[in-house]
Amino acid sequence: MEKFHVTGTLVWYYHICPREAWFMARQIVPDEDDPNIDYGRFLQEKVYQREKKEITIGHLKLDIMKSNSGKLVIGEIKKSSASKESARMQLLFYLYELKQMGIEAVGELLFPEERRKEKIELDQQAIEEVESLKKKIMEVVNQVFPPPAKKVRWCRNCAYNEMCWA
Ligand code: SF4
Repeated sequence: MEKFHVTGTLVWYYHICPREAWFMARQIVPDEDDPNIDYGRFLQEKVYQREKKEITIGHLKLDIMKSNSGKLVIGEIKKSSASKESARMQLLFYLYELKQMGIEAVGELLFPEERRKEKIELDQQAIEEVESLKKKIMEVVNQVFPPPAKKVRWCRNCAYNEMCWA
């Protein structure tokens, strides 16, 4: 596996399923012409991500960057809050990476279709969470084989369903 940067998208996938993150990191995508595959969340989220206008800072792709009362605020927009914990980790990862660049910011998770917004701050506990997660992602992605399939609530609509459970 070539040397790679942990990205926010990978954090999001890893938090949902480490096996899925392994596939994504290697750009292994299911056969799009296979009528048996339900792309569900994979496609929905991909289309949704593509429609967003992103701001790129180094290896980070941010949905929103604004200033509020003298503070830099970055936002991550998601279609649904069903995978809120993964979205929270993704945003914490961005805040952490910005901090490494000397940029202090606070985060906002946005679910426009549900008219919800949540503030996210990078405190010491969150820093430790991100560091541990980054380490785990590197370990998993660098493994020769993917982690074994483990049933999670997302399997039903996962694009890799056939590869894990057929
Ligand atoms: S089907 Fe389930 S176990 Fe397999 S990659 Fe998708 S979420 Fe992970």
